Amino acid sequence: MSDYEIIDPRFRELVLPNAPLERLADGFRWTEGPVWFGDHRCLLFSDLPNDRLMRWSEATGVSVFRAPSGFANGSTRDREGRLVTCLHGPRALLRTEPDGRLAALAERRAGRRLNSPNDVVCKSDGSLWFSDPIYGLQADYEGGRREPELPPALCRLDPATGAVDVVADDFVGPNGLCFSPDESRLYVAETGLKFDPGSRRCIRVFDVAEDGHTLRNGRDFYKVSPGDADGIRCDEDGNVWASAGDGVHCIGPDGTLLGRIRVPCVVQNLCFGDRLASRLFLCASQSLYAIWVNRRGAQWP
Ligand code: MG
Repeated sequence: MSDYEIIDPRFRELVLPNAPLERLADGFRWTEGPVWFGDHRCLLFSDLPNDRLMRWSEATGVSVFRAPSGFANGSTRDREGRLVTCLHGPRALLRTEPDGRLAALAERRAGRRLNSPNDVVCKSDGSLWFSDPIYGLQADYEGGRREPELPPALCRLDPATGAVDVVADDFVGPNGLCFSPDESRLYVAETGLKFDPGSRRCIRVFDVAEDGHTLRNGRDFYKVSPGDADGIRCDEDGNVWASAGDGVHCIGPDGTLLGRIRVPCVVQNLCFGDRLASRLFLCASQSLYAIWVNRRGAQWP
């Protein structure tokens, strides 16, 4: 049990006492953006400052999937299973077609260039919701120092029309995001100003209006400490699993910290994958970790 810290008794059923934290690979510069491909039994993830997308499978280990990657950050799969990736370099959302062709889905909003799309999720209606903070414009390390043309925002892309709408504009640094299993809620990590540790940092939650594309009643949900909740994911019961400076925090739908998975380095992002989506993959500092848990990742309703 040494990899867990149970804070609320509910956490006991969510973890497995005989499932260790495993370090699957290391030697990266800074891992991000994990996404599971069950049909290929592999995980794709970003090695962001090294400007490459990586592939991991149990059978073959680690290989380079695409380099250069356009300084890829977060990724997801759309309803047709296609890879959709946030790019800091060209400041775009990119879709990879099954035949390998690349299609830029969004490069602008309000007639101006996006900042540096950070993370993305797909809703069951096919819309792509992504965060557009300025982090990737603040350091050559993450894609190149440039002037932002727009304030940070949380956005929704309709791939059918290409329209990009701002769904929330009161973020300093919108980051990871995930829907609750029934899509009645959207959780979004606010990670503040890059060079100001005192700026606002917390996971926020919004109610999704009945129209399916408007957010209401934004409020603070949970403050991760130490560190930030960069990437977040919901499980099938609506618990929120959040990356943190000391590992992974699991938070109940009521905002209570249920427990922690201890990881010996900062975790940036995570996703559910492998058999029945019940293994958590962790992009953590220079490494890739995984741990089997007793809940499955949230699926589309
Ligand atoms: Mg992020």
